[in-house]
Amino acid sequence: MTADVLDRRSDFAGLLTADGEPWHYLDTAASAQKPRAVIEAMSRALGPDYATVHRGVYGRSAQMTLGYEAARRRVAEFIGATSENEVVFVRGATEAINLVASSWGGANLRGGDRIMLSTLEHHSNIVPWQMLAERTGAEIDVCPLTEDDRIDLDALEAMLTERHKIVSLAHVSNVLGSVLDVRRAADLAHSVGAKILLDGCQAAPRMVLDMAAFDCDFYAFSGHKLYGPTGIGVLWAREDLLDAMPPYQGGGSMIDKVTFAKTTYAPPPQRFEAGTPMITEAIALHAAIDYVDALGPDRLFAHESALANKLREELRNINSVRLFGPDESAGIVSFAMEGVHPHDLGTILDEENVAIRAGHHCAQPLMEHLGVPATARASFGLYNDESDIAALLRGIERTQRIFG
Ligand code: PMP
Repeated sequence: MTADVLDRRSDFAGLLTADGEPWHYLDTAASAQKPRAVIEAMSRALGPDYATVHRGVYGRSAQMTLGYEAARRRVAEFIGATSENEVVFVRGATEAINLVASSWGGANLRGGDRIMLSTLEHHSNIVPWQMLAERTGAEIDVCPLTEDDRIDLDALEAMLTERHKIVSLAHVSNVLGSVLDVRRAADLAHSVGAKILLDGCQAAPRMVLDMAAFDCDFYAFSGHKLYGPTGIGVLWAREDLLDAMPPYQGGGSMIDKVTFAKTTYAPPPQRFEAGTPMITEAIALHAAIDYVDALGPDRLFAHESALANKLREELRNINSVRLFGPDESAGIVSFAMEGVHPHDLGTILDEENVAIRAGHHCAQPLMEHLGVPATARASFGLYNDESDIAALLRGIERTQRIFG
């Protein structure tokens, strides 16, 4: 398979430098560039179609409401949800996880209960649970990784007890690209009566999502990594769980009736969408999902993991490079160069029009486990091809020359 099989670069205005040179963008795991279709959908929604939703009696507002709710149905279809009522629009994965920890966790956890995370989690799948643990007296356990840096499901099986109420794991690691066997993780969680949340931030842009097949309880992802805009994300939850959850924030749109004596709440998903929602962002997310779905998430996965394999192969030939993560992964490759701080590498690569991420990637406990303060990370999107790998390797060679 040739690595540039998708050939969609020209759909992305963001892949050129200010001088019109190719920009080798290898930071899609942080945020994806946007195809023209998404920018146009957002521009229409902010321009000629603009009005607020759910309130106006005038036609434009009614149209916008249809557009906003159509986006919710499109998300439900894309992720194999049973009903669109299981789809809550949030600001991003961070807000989705905070919502679950605060609302579901606040109502269901108490002192003595346990929360299971793993070593490779993003801070947004650690800190909300720590805040919940402080509030409730629950405690956190950390599932270790295998030798090749995957979440160790045998260890998970051995560690889980009936005191665990929630297991919250990354579907795909944002640092290592390791892919979780979600069905086995869900079965293990359920076997002790725990719920499972999957942080799907890195899976949603590059894998087929099927809530029924995953058999999870909560699933979270961000629109901006899925080629959509910032400021919108999705919390999917099983309808019976959402039904029983108290509101996360109070305000307009989430109520049934308000009096000073007592307020009653709307059913989900409105109960969890206080205030004027992210209208134009939802509509642009709809366009992003249409774009990704037309290409086929399984093709994206194959394309990006082929590029990741190729890059790993090349990096293995460079003595000063240390690779992290499993051989087989989603399109994310983390590495370190002996004697070169990842930030210095990132700066030199920037001069070559190559954009990588250097740092702890919001996964400081994982950095501690790997024994490094930071890594360099190249992450692929649907628009990358072998020319991006070649540019990265040229930059690495130049860095080697500079650092002797
Ligand atoms: N989880 C993972 C695995 C991520 O990669 C990210 C983003 N780097 C997040 C959670 C948080 O997403 P956001 O900042 O869009 O809320």
